[in-house]
Amino acid sequence: MFTEIPNPATGQIEHRQELMGANAVEAALHAAQTAFPEWAQRPLEARGAVLRKVGALLRERHEAIAGIMTAEMGKLKAEALAEIDKCAGACDYYADNAARYLAPQPIETEAQASYVRYEPIGCVLAVMPWNFPIWQVFRFLAPTLMVGNVALLKHASNVPRCADAIASVLRDGGVPEGVFAVLHIDNDQAAEVIRDRRVAAVTLTGSERAGKSIAANAGGELKKCVMELGGSDAFVVLDDADLDKTVAAAVKGRFDNAGQTCIAAKRFIVVDAIADAFVQRFVEAAGKLKTGDPNDAATTLAPMARQDLRDELHHQVASSVADGAKVLLGGHPGQGHADYPATILDQVQPGMRAYDEELFGPVASILRVKDEAEALRVANDTSFGLGGSVWTGDAQRGERVAQQLQCGAAFVNSIVKSDVRLPFGGTKRSGFGRELAAVGMHEFTNIKTVYVA
Ligand code: NAP
Repeated sequence: MFTEIPNPATGQIEHRQELMGANAVEAALHAAQTAFPEWAQRPLEARGAVLRKVGALLRERHEAIAGIMTAEMGKLKAEALAEIDKCAGACDYYADNAARYLAPQPIETEAQASYVRYEPIGCVLAVMPWNFPIWQVFRFLAPTLMVGNVALLKHASNVPRCADAIASVLRDGGVPEGVFAVLHIDNDQAAEVIRDRRVAAVTLTGSERAGKSIAANAGGELKKCVMELGGSDAFVVLDDADLDKTVAAAVKGRFDNAGQTCIAAKRFIVVDAIADAFVQRFVEAAGKLKTGDPNDAATTLAPMARQDLRDELHHQVASSVADGAKVLLGGHPGQGHADYPATILDQVQPGMRAYDEELFGPVASILRVKDEAEALRVANDTSFGLGGSVWTGDAQRGERVAQQLQCGAAFVNSIVKSDVRLPFGGTKRSGFGRELAAVGMHEFTNIKTVYVA
């Protein structure tokens, strides 16, 4: 069976990906099981040296990999290059910090010795999305390989060549056969892989729909899973916000990556005192974004990754408008195969799709509120809990509000970012478990207590 992959900018089919059969999947599982003991026992410095080589190769090959990302999911070339360099940084970061993060943690008790050790658990299956097709993989892969686990990747079906590019970099960087492999499989095959006794755990980055299915399959086998799911992050603008900085951040935070970012600012919750000024400037700045060929440096808003995703986004917009939202900018599909222009909806209210659902594309919702207290109530009035940001001239005030946001990461006067040094993950329906930093590295370890009486 083949999956056809159209270029999102042109609609041309540029690649047909064949799905793997049962024998190939079995071979990958067998290779993973065989490779695990040797990889787990390799000294940390040796695994670190491999990771550093992988990072260097990512930097060396970034032009070619960026070209694949743009062809498969439409990312602007500059954004693709930055993403690859960030992955190389994550390889270095975990090579540099693994010894510290994995050092046994002494615990004072009455025993001669009592401590916690972090031990690898085996093969982890990663089910990954297309929106950051290299970063999402590396932010899981770099720490898990450093821990001594082995990994299988089932990537989103529209980015198979990104998956293969990752496999090539790892192989050429010295990752032994079986320590990492790509499975070109569909979701039913992925469910079988989750059930396989050789797979110890699963990590998903993707939608709530995929999360329910994968977590149920993992739960059915009592396997650990981490769920990095959707978000509808609040961008809270208080009356004392610096408008120049806030508007620039709003444009970046909503429209980078064509708005297809889990931690993008999606709900702009603006207090009345500053709302008209903010909205006017936001519309003006977002109106300058230009759709077009993602390889052209003049294009500042990428096409969406697939036409069906663009069409679904437009249904969400049209339904919200039918329910009373006001279009201030954009609001209709663009000329290109999967283009959607920068769109801003005002007067978004509960019950509208723009209020209740994640808008995974270049559409901003404005929610006007009377004061800080109402801003907080509205910010938390969501089933998601990934990130949120607060914009104010008073950092202490911002911190107080940020502490009350019900989400995994609250930023003050900064857009929400994934940063290898900081834990990343959600609450509520945005998922559970954490990636990045030390805690992300510990997710797929046996946190083992040793007690010597
Ligand atoms: P998606 O449709 O859920 O796909 C993600 C991955 O899950 C793909 O590999 C997909 O495979 C697989 N999948 C989909 N349905 C499945 C099912 N029923 N059973 C098993 N696997 C399934 O999500 P997406 O459209 O690629 O990505 C966008 C979503 O990811 C958004 O909601 C976004 O917020 C979220 N996201 C979250 C984070 C985070 O860190 N929290 C980061 C990035 C994105 P196929 O492609 O083969 O269907």
